[in-house]
Amino acid sequence: MTVRRELGRGERVLPGLWRLRLPLPWPGVPHCNAWAIAAGSGIVLVDTGMHEPGSLAQLERAMDQVNLRLEHVRLVAVTHAHTDHWGQAAPICELAGCELWMHPNHEHATRTAGDPVAALAQRLEIGRQSGVPESAIQRYAERFPKGMPSGIARVIEPDRPLIDGVQIDTDLGTWDVYETPGHAPSHVCLFQPERRVLISGDHVLGRISLYYDYGWSPDPVGEFLDSLDVVDGLDARLGLSGHGKPFVDVHGHIEGSRKLVHERLGAALAALEGGPRTAVEIVPRLHGQQLSEQNASWLLSETLCYLTHLERSGRVTREPDGESVRWRAA
Ligand SMILES: [Zn+2]
Ligand SMILES: [Zn+2]
Repeated sequence: MTVRRELGRGERVLPGLWRLRLPLPWPGVPHCNAWAIAAGSGIVLVDTGMHEPGSLAQLERAMDQVNLRLEHVRLVAVTHAHTDHWGQAAPICELAGCELWMHPNHEHATRTAGDPVAALAQRLEIGRQSGVPESAIQRYAERFPKGMPSGIARVIEPDRPLIDGVQIDTDLGTWDVYETPGHAPSHVCLFQPERRVLISGDHVLGRISLYYDYGWSPDPVGEFLDSLDVVDGLDARLGLSGHGKPFVDVHGHIEGSRKLVHERLGAALAALEGGPRTAVEIVPRLHGQQLSEQNASWLLSETLCYLTHLERSGRVTREPDGESVRWRAA
């Protein structure tokens, strides 16, 4: 079966602001967005797309459609250190001779980026803790392609930390940085207050989808909810997210995300009514789908994040059971 891939595409969103739609090799997530913003003699590039064979050419193709070149990039700013948002940062910064600005809590990505064995070990640990049977863990470990590409061209340290209070000057005005951890510990949003435009990364998506990095911060779900309040307070009227089209009902999308988090928290609690369960046993009740090798890492991480959040507010407790953990309603 051949998977028909999208091609990089560029389109103008506002005078001096372009959407660069870049293909992704992931089932169900066909593309991600980078944003180019006019700034003096060049552009600020927000996010980069993922690194894989031919990916830089896709970015160049998208830029070419709106008369931009990689050499025009004066600064690369990334919303968060997921491969589809900063994977190409190193070659772009090198080619353009510009700086990379990113949030300092990028360890969730950089620690395993050049180390597929460590990345696998981390996934297996989540599986064991979730109650995945050892035979399935072993099968997964064997099938995990050793040379699986990381999606990151090369790890580079940011030249400047993107934290609260940092500003980015462009021809469209100054963009304020807001730290918005939850989806990833390194997540930030950029907001242009006069135009009320929000570059929301994967924090607020055009089509609501929840994902959290598990194991890098105390309570990703709590952090995500707090970060939703932060961006809701900005009163943005145009949302430019890491995937999907620009959207205008920013508050509605934030409210939709909040609602879905609370629904899933409620479903996790309901799943524990009959007695203690492992994360593996909770997933089908939470997501309405069975675990597969493809979705396990995502769904188990998400479920563990809800359970951790409920534990912190005293609503569930954990009971170690060998290498796995059972969760009990308090
Ligand atoms: Zn992401
Ligand atoms: Zn993304």
